[in-house]
Amino acid sequence: MQPSLEKLRKFFRLEHENGYNDTAVIGGLGKVVDPWSNEARLEGVPEDIVQLVATTLRAYAEQRPPERAAALKALWQQIRARIPETAGAEETLKRPARRAPSTTPAVPDRDGAGEVARSETVTPVPEPTPPLSRAPEVQPHGAPRASRPTSPRVGQPVALNASLQVLTGVGPRHAAMLARLGLNTLGDMLYHFPRRYEDYSRLKPIHRLWYGEEVTVVGTIQLLESRKIRGGTATLIEAVIHDGTGSLRLIWFNQPWLVNRMKVGDAISVSGKVEQYLGRLVMNNPDWEPVEVENLHTNRIVPIYPLTANVTQKWLRRLMYQVVTYWAPKLSDHLPETIRREVSLLELGEALRQVHFPDSQEKLQEGRRRLAFDEIFLLQMGVLRQKRDWQAAAARRFLVRDPWLQERLAALPYALTNAQRRALEEIWKDFASGRPMNRLLQGDVGSGKTVVAALAAALVTHAGAQAAIMAPTSLLAGQHYQTFCTLLTERDRALLPEQIRLLVGDTSEKEKEEIRAGLVSGAIKIVIGTHALLEEPVTFADLQFVVIDEQHRFGVAQRAALRAKGANPHLLVMTATPIPRSLALTIYGDLDLSVMDEMPAGRQPVATYVLMPRERERAYTLIRGQVAAGRQAFIVYPLIEESENLEVAAAVDEHARLQRDIFPDLKLGLLHGRMRPEEKDEVMARFRAGEYHILVTTTVIEVGVDIPNATVMLIEGADRFGLAQLHQLRGRVGRGAAQAYCLLIPSREDEVENERLAAMVETNDGFVLAERDLQQRGPGEFLGTRQAGFVSSLRMASLSDVALIEQARVQAQRLFEQDPDLQAPEHALLAEAVSRFWGGGKGDVS
Ligand code: ADP
Ligand code: MG
Repeated sequence: MQPSLEKLRKFFRLEHENGYNDTAVIGGLGKVVDPWSNEARLEGVPEDIVQLVATTLRAYAEQRPPERAAALKALWQQIRARIPETAGAEETLKRPARRAPSTTPAVPDRDGAGEVARSETVTPVPEPTPPLSRAPEVQPHGAPRASRPTSPRVGQPVALNASLQVLTGVGPRHAAMLARLGLNTLGDMLYHFPRRYEDYSRLKPIHRLWYGEEVTVVGTIQLLESRKIRGGTATLIEAVIHDGTGSLRLIWFNQPWLVNRMKVGDAISVSGKVEQYLGRLVMNNPDWEPVEVENLHTNRIVPIYPLTANVTQKWLRRLMYQVVTYWAPKLSDHLPETIRREVSLLELGEALRQVHFPDSQEKLQEGRRRLAFDEIFLLQMGVLRQKRDWQAAAARRFLVRDPWLQERLAALPYALTNAQRRALEEIWKDFASGRPMNRLLQGDVGSGKTVVAALAAALVTHAGAQAAIMAPTSLLAGQHYQTFCTLLTERDRALLPEQIRLLVGDTSEKEKEEIRAGLVSGAIKIVIGTHALLEEPVTFADLQFVVIDEQHRFGVAQRAALRAKGANPHLLVMTATPIPRSLALTIYGDLDLSVMDEMPAGRQPVATYVLMPRERERAYTLIRGQVAAGRQAFIVYPLIEESENLEVAAAVDEHARLQRDIFPDLKLGLLHGRMRPEEKDEVMARFRAGEYHILVTTTVIEVGVDIPNATVMLIEGADRFGLAQLHQLRGRVGRGAAQAYCLLIPSREDEVENERLAAMVETNDGFVLAERDLQQRGPGEFLGTRQAGFVSSLRMASLSDVALIEQARVQAQRLFEQDPDLQAPEHALLAEAVSRFWGGGKGDVS
């Protein structure tokens, strides 16, 4: 054993004999950290052990004797695990203490409950023991504060649910701080991934920097000053750092507090783009972080964790290190070894270790790959089970008879496209199967999904049952109501007008009452509405078919709630958001998919142009020409995220300006989110009837609106919109046979280069745009916040990694066929992992 460790052992024994009162060393154990660390390093004690000792001893003085006892014991245990020669020394801590307060870590429970004492009497703990090994009794699996439901924690459930207070150096105060980061248990810690890494193995010396480069540089601050600029209204902080090869100027604007955060002599790392100013290299507003000098020597790739107030990177990293090095290797892997081998994945513990404290970039990637596989695999296992459960339920059969169908088709104002016909055939099959339909109808904007839903609803109501259609806005619900009435009661007369009703938030109480009564009695066959359908105490006589339009606008719970109003009704969800195949397979694996990849005949791609703000006049000229030809136009005012009021104000002002200065001879309508629903309906009705030439609007117009005579979509502030939104907006035109135009005017000249706008010009294909969008924004944002709920539990998996997703799906499928309920004893851990992943309300993804 190295002399430094021998020394340590003596200190520990003395402490033990003195009852952990921190008197083994004059001035306390904290005092020995520095000299001891130097000595230990010289003797070749591994750096992780040195760090661990240092952390433990520094915290020692602040702890109470029971915590100290636990801490030293844990520390020694770790040393023993790491350095075998020290193993024989374990009797050191076994000898009875003279005044030892407790031989187990009597860490106070955060709630003040006496669980620790209780557990001691139940399960005597053998010694020596690391502080966490008794955690299972302290924190039984499933204890209320044990877990954050969204994190896919896996492995050894018991230990993973251990409260963080059993960690050395973590008392109630620290635990509360960590809780703010969502870290309540050991498992939370292991799955609290770095937000990024500082790769000190790839640092660039300042004298080799190039102008234009994005880099990270480390240096010591030589100069730091703060100046007022712009007549004293703004502050500029200037710093110069030096790294031995050269110096670099750093400028921060308007962050006056920075002067107090750093000082001359500090080492910092800065990341940003190298620019040139008066012939010298500078970085403007770089990201910066204090550097812990030891990182430069020890870990070459250093994790940077997401933080919260009062938690420092350094402290958290140390704690993480302690947790990861000690606990990760002890996890049992839930993934069967056969799968791990076949897909060549790291073992769970190793993967976690590499993700937190990577040995190299390659190892880091391997670690991430393993954890990403887990996420997709667990997701798939749940999806497969859900699909099976769904299919196990019985549903009413509806059979389509040819004469009936021919009659319906003959009444339509157009012939169905092949894609619509195929989708309907798939729906007829589901209706006839005796199992509830669970189908996603995906078709780009304008592909004609509404008529498919209407014909399906016609079949169900023909058999005497009821259908409910839910849309995200009252505007859209109103439009669907019109469409259904036209198709099913006017042209077709399959139903009577009073058998189809509209129910939105603003429907009068009297009418709501009437509708509720009609639905209970079964007199009303089809109800179309918004989420008001869910909020009203609506009961159906016989709801057999539920349609959800623009389904990505709804939360999982809302869809489930509507479906629950019937007994295993058939479900059709529709979306215009073209979901890339990789994503669809992953998250909608439990839904059958119908894709409408064809537009009604005669449609031409919308001609799309990006105009500079000063070319606006050209846009107005085009609009004037189209209006002269009998067409109509939309002018959309930009999304102002900070406030809907601002958005409305912009539209109101522009409406007035356009009417007065630009189009005094035309009729301009105005539509915005602050209008009452019946006002909106009125405006839409008048626009539809051709009373307005131009509709000035905010983004309320975004989804679903169908006015075939409109041929121009002018989008102001186009750079502020996401791709999916731009595509949706453009989809409001080009719905008839005439050539349509989409004009994109960014808010600033230099945004003309914006890559989303470029993508819009390049293609009309929603699928191509969706793939781009997914790449640019990641799945969470892509799907919208509501739906991101469970996709955000995919923290490692990149949904563009199709190969990995495919492997995970195949493996999950294979395992599911062998042991669908994971009842085999060797799958017990996996079963736990699946239910944990799917816990917390993620039970219904559709
Ligand atoms: P979306 O799929 O975006 O919901 P809609 O159902 O609103 O599309 O239909 C878009 C437009 O296309 C509507 O005006 C509708 O009347 C028209 N349409 C639908 N199907 C056909 C078809 N087969 N032939 C011609 N026009 C059609
Ligand atoms: Mg639609």
